[in-house]
Amino acid sequence: MAAALAAASRQSWRRLFRWRASGSRAPCGLVCTTRGLSDGGAYDLLVVGGGSGGLACAKEAAEFGKKVAVMDFVAPSPRGTSWGLGGTCVNVGCIPKKLMHHAALLGGALADAHHYGWGVAPSAPHDWQQMTKAIQNHVKSLNWGYRVQLQERNVKYFNIQGSFVNDHTVRGFTKAGKEMLVTADHIVLATGGRPRYPSDVEGAMEYGITSDDLFWLKDSPGKTLVVGASYVSLECAGFLTGFGLDTTVMMRSVPLRGFDQQMALLVTDYMESHGTKFLKHCTMKKLEKLKNNRLQVTWNNHDTNTEEMSVFDTVLWAVGRVPETRRLNLDQVGVKLHPDSQKILVDAGEVTSVPHIYAIGDIAESRPELTPTAIMAGKLLARRLFGQATELMDYDNVATTVFTPLEYGCVGLSEEEAESRYGEDNIEVYHAYYKPLEFTVPERDSSQCYIKMVCLRERDQRILGLHFIGPNAGEVIQGFALGIKCGATYPQMKKTVGIHPTSAEEVTKLWITKRSGLPATVTGC
Ligand code: FAD
Ligand code: NDP
Repeated sequence: MAAALAAASRQSWRRLFRWRASGSRAPCGLVCTTRGLSDGGAYDLLVVGGGSGGLACAKEAAEFGKKVAVMDFVAPSPRGTSWGLGGTCVNVGCIPKKLMHHAALLGGALADAHHYGWGVAPSAPHDWQQMTKAIQNHVKSLNWGYRVQLQERNVKYFNIQGSFVNDHTVRGFTKAGKEMLVTADHIVLATGGRPRYPSDVEGAMEYGITSDDLFWLKDSPGKTLVVGASYVSLECAGFLTGFGLDTTVMMRSVPLRGFDQQMALLVTDYMESHGTKFLKHCTMKKLEKLKNNRLQVTWNNHDTNTEEMSVFDTVLWAVGRVPETRRLNLDQVGVKLHPDSQKILVDAGEVTSVPHIYAIGDIAESRPELTPTAIMAGKLLARRLFGQATELMDYDNVATTVFTPLEYGCVGLSEEEAESRYGEDNIEVYHAYYKPLEFTVPERDSSQCYIKMVCLRERDQRILGLHFIGPNAGEVIQGFALGIKCGATYPQMKKTVGIHPTSAEEVTKLWITKRSGLPATVTGC
């Protein structure tokens, strides 16, 4: 009965669309008078947003032989920066970020190289233009690759900004200004987010930039003030410092909120001791442009209760992101948003308040803002919709890494979360400082290389969280994440034979508990 009703309703909206497109009077009395209307077609699935989640979902649905369309449109940043198909990660996120992080690490490697016998100067000037040209070429090749992948799978691509007309119809305007209507049985929203600008700071949008602009700047940003203290801020400040730029982070509260705070402070300590400046407990007041085009910045220092001022070439806002829900006309179809975050409310199956409309990735409420979760959620959704699968996305124990100069990778609970969930007496924290072998010859400082494993104290001592600061933290933590996902315990970790000589083996060697009070200092092999 339900299936018959759904089929009947699909038939009626398709009929309504045909009437609308033909400009004649629909039976409900709706008169469709739009001129230059273009019929984008009717699809089994329409995905709005061609980023990490949307493309994965569309490609997977096409594998089931379904008729699929993707709408993707990049609204230029207030500075006018724009890019191609692929979404945040590819164009203004993970990919250019990781490549710039690598470029900065290479600068550090130069400093080490002469200790290892290379006849190179311990430092060399960095060429921003050369780096960005190479990175942008790579990004453009990825944009092209996505278009080819869609074509190969017969997925129709519309370079238009979608907005709902009714709950099965999305409209947009082509570059030529023609209105296009696309209808679908199922609609997946995957429109991600964009950087936030503060509303209470004079000159913020006029003179500041965001991560949407940074990766596409033609010239080096020069002396930079990065506002915010989370992933985007610390990663960008880290690589800018690595290029030899005078870089300052302005923090209003704690670094990396939500992460284990002991680890977060080690990350910022390392950055501070390697050249990044920090303005702590400070909030921005205004930005003014000087005659020489530099920016005069005024802020309040809440520790000293004073107003302070300095001049920078660039101010980078890294104060969080705004979900791209505003242009979708969601009110029209009854898709409900979280009142605070303005993200789309979804259930465990990514279903919104409208049964055939789904939301995945950054746009969905209470989901991690990470590319691999958006991709996996998109693929699983397509399999449930068209492949008779039932598997839901499991958002627990998702590993992540902050690509700061000394990387921080983690999976599972922070010490604080474990304490509040299980009680301080019921958890055991194993920890150790360690010295990566590669740091020894050039005598690099390893004071912040630290590992922490949070376990249940009783019975099987299940591992609740693993935190690693050191080189290649992302590579280290990924494999352990599998173990933790499978319910690994401390005794199993103890039985795991390490790979020598690596930093990852230090995880298998952890034996000092915080409770014991023994010093967690470096032990040699
Ligand atoms: P997006 O990738 O943002 O894609 C949404 C797409 O929809 C965009 O192309 C957008 O233009 C388009 N769109 C919006 N509205 C409409 C509309 N109305 N009609 C048509 N199209 C529309 N994650 C990691 O896992 N690792 C990292 O190292 C990492 N680094 C990051 C670094 C930075 C600087 C940033 C900002 C993010 C980073 N992330 C990282 C997060 C990651 O980029 C996002 O979680 C991921 O891109 C979200 O994917 P999505 O599919 O939800 O949305
Ligand atoms: P977040 O929302 O994580 O952090 C925002 C930061 O800005 C916080 O430090 C916050 O401080 C601060 N802030 C907010 N408003 C103001 C203000 N008005 N003035 C001063 N500071 C302010 O945003 P991000 O943009 O850093 O990251 C967004 C998401 O992107 C992350 O959650 C992550 O999932 C993803 N990402 C992932 C990466 C990776 O995987 N390596 C890299 C980059 C991004 P406070 O704590 O006081 O609120």
